[in-house]
Amino acid sequence: MANATLARASKVSKKEKTTREDLNPYRIAQLQFDLAARYIPDLKKGLIEYLKRPARAVYIEFPIQTERGSVRNFVGFRVLHNSVRGPGKGGIRYHPKVTADEVRALASWMTWKCAVVDVPFGGAKGGIICNPKKLTQADLRRITRRFISELGDDIGPHTDIPAPDVNTNAGTMAWIYDTYQVMHPGQDSLAVVTGKPLDIGGSLGRREATARGSLFAAQRAIERGLVDGLDSLEGATVVIQGFGNAGSIAAELFAEQGARILAVSDTGGAVFKGRGLDPALAIAHKRETGSVAGLDGARNISNEELLALECDILIPAALENQIRGDNAADVRAKMIVEAANGPTTPAADEILEENGVVVLPDILANAGGVTVSYFEWVQNLEHQQWDLEEVNDKLRRKMVRATEEVIDEQERVNGGLDEIQSRVKGKSAPTLGLVSLRTAAFILAIRRVANVALERGIWP
Ligand code: NAD
Repeated sequence: MANATLARASKVSKKEKTTREDLNPYRIAQLQFDLAARYIPDLKKGLIEYLKRPARAVYIEFPIQTERGSVRNFVGFRVLHNSVRGPGKGGIRYHPKVTADEVRALASWMTWKCAVVDVPFGGAKGGIICNPKKLTQADLRRITRRFISELGDDIGPHTDIPAPDVNTNAGTMAWIYDTYQVMHPGQDSLAVVTGKPLDIGGSLGRREATARGSLFAAQRAIERGLVDGLDSLEGATVVIQGFGNAGSIAAELFAEQGARILAVSDTGGAVFKGRGLDPALAIAHKRETGSVAGLDGARNISNEELLALECDILIPAALENQIRGDNAADVRAKMIVEAANGPTTPAADEILEENGVVVLPDILANAGGVTVSYFEWVQNLEHQQWDLEEVNDKLRRKMVRATEEVIDEQERVNGGLDEIQSRVKGKSAPTLGLVSLRTAAFILAIRRVANVALERGIWP
């Protein structure tokens, strides 16, 4: 089926492909789910519908009085997709383009991610429509506090636990904790939020966890021989889109392993250096100027050029829908490691697969963040502080196991297609083709969540 679709796709122009492709993240997340659910023939229709859609979505409109004295209104969302395997878990994003459907998609990806990496959480996500670049710290503090107070008991240490995401950080998490604590006097509420500062119950290694998890997953995939001509990160060429928490730390960690960072980018532009960029210099330059653009000794390039650079590994670490039907054919990386959530669209997935590009999917490749968030939560509940080696070692074991399990799942499904096909019933049953790592990860995750749902029994 993929080949037939591709043959058709190649006959339409790039522009047509962009305009035709549905870039709604929620519909993309549902499509990814549907593609995988076909390979689990025993899954009942009602259960599929239940697992596919969010359990709860909260929409909040609230005012703050800004530092300048005016009153401004904001819209925020918190979505709990599924809590069958444990309390909801997921970041809060501040961005002018946040939508309800984006948050729904991100919440569902959290459900599958937590299942892939096997941490006892469900999926959740939050977002506030705002532009942090145009707000003062005092305004952001008020927005955070008001949003958390409006959420009330929709979040809690055993119900739904926020964390950092795009444009939020440890400082934001400190405000969340403080607000919740003020609303719940006399209770120990440290575990209500993760990604906190170290001196307020944060975990060592959490700041680097997303990027470190991507590193461990990439290393394991390479060791398993998934990438032709690449047997370690030593000397591998790496290109990174997005230079925030996930991207900038990935640059440091991949470079530490001997990789050459060819190019990095942020909203201000992209820079390229054939001999390899020094991540520390890029970080310092961004701190001083607000962007990596204009970095000394590097050449400014466009974001489109960056995605099309010849390299071993491309790490999208910015936002959704960066690699699409209209530009996927330009990608010349051997492997894509999705540090971002939802960077690759389904149309792009087909093209990349056809071109032999290995995609380590987001629900595996960026699961390091939620894994160390889980460690932080455990440390808070047990009043412990683990040392960095312990955190990183536990993270490595989780990521290596999850990577192994996703690769094994892909081999299991692709090796047993005839048997699975024989169990797919109905006249209009689809003909099943080979699955990608993304679909394999979804199959693994859906089965895990479905098993727990069935073991618990549908209440009442
Ligand atoms: P961040 O706000 O720290 O950084 C985002 C970066 O992306 C910034 O440098 C920004 O300038 C850049 N960016 C945005 N749009 C871009 C574009 N079109 N081209 C190039 N650069 C662009 O956010 P983050 O926490 O690093 O999150 C990045 C991605 O990683 C998101 O998809 C997020 O959901 C995902 N993620 C983050 C975590 C975490 O723990 N922070 C965990 C898992 C997944």
